[in-house]
Amino acid sequence: MPINNSRVVTYSPAYTIVPTYECFNRCSYCNFRTEPGKNPWMNISDAESILKPLQTEKVCEILILSGEVHPHSPKRQEWFSRIYDLCELALSMGFLPHTNAGPLSFAEMQKLKRVNVSMGLMLEQLTPTLLNTVHRHAPSKLPEVRLQQLEWAGELQIPFTTGLLLGIGETADDWWETLAAISEFHQRYHHIQEVILQPHSPGNQQSFNAPPFNPHELPEVIAKAREILPADITIQIPPNLVKDDQWLVACIEAGARDLGGISPKDEVNPDYPHLQEQLLRQILQPAGWELIERLPVYPQFDYWLSEELQTPVRWWRNTL
Ligand code: SF4
Repeated sequence: MPINNSRVVTYSPAYTIVPTYECFNRCSYCNFRTEPGKNPWMNISDAESILKPLQTEKVCEILILSGEVHPHSPKRQEWFSRIYDLCELALSMGFLPHTNAGPLSFAEMQKLKRVNVSMGLMLEQLTPTLLNTVHRHAPSKLPEVRLQQLEWAGELQIPFTTGLLLGIGETADDWWETLAAISEFHQRYHHIQEVILQPHSPGNQQSFNAPPFNPHELPEVIAKAREILPADITIQIPPNLVKDDQWLVACIEAGARDLGGISPKDEVNPDYPHLQEQLLRQILQPAGWELIERLPVYPQFDYWLSEELQTPVRWWRNTL
């Protein structure tokens, strides 16, 4: 897979499963969460029925994206086991799991490494001012808690995806500071494979009353991020949140090289349907960009994986 080719943009053929939408945080821009106890969790047999038909489609990554149960809740262990079991199921069915389930303990991360080819957590923004606004009721969004995750992922040699949420009340200087912090951790552990630059895009469920992040500003932010981040970290943008075709191409020209997991539904931004592969190609090809599939783990990290994980990864590298 020629991912170093300079006119290549990648994406991951993915499907998202959600163990639970319940979350003890209440970020005011959230369009995902439900109140704890209001929705049944996904069980293993339901997940199996969802995944079965995907085995004959070109789906490689299963993104396990979950709302959070409080670390001290009596339900935490059951929640964690459900996530672990869903990863194990996805693996047993030939898929490559990538989990993003909020901050985890060191031991939880260590266990999930066994059944994930990579993991992720958005840093969002480091500025503590957001704790008085959009994150007032979101204890998981303490910047030091999230930085700790980056550090533990590095110590555990987990290929990691992180990113910034843009336009939630931070300043431009806050962006550069957050990007610099990511760079610093990467220089220590060399474990960050991608940084997502996600523009805030208002949805129907949120209470945060603010305009969308101006997509026309995005290429400039990408160009500066490209200067700050080490060259071996790929910049990812979600194409469904850029909207305008020309500006999507402008984002690529500015240095973004990945469009993330493309699945039938964007669970985090359900009001913004994903552009499917065919349409993305139609936008990118005339501008001279080739769209190719990638795995949820970048090749330079394969040797960090256990033999049990390397076997399906090798298979997918020969297949996609
Ligand atoms: S954004 Fe994430 S952490 Fe915040 S309330 Fe929604 S699901 Fe929970």
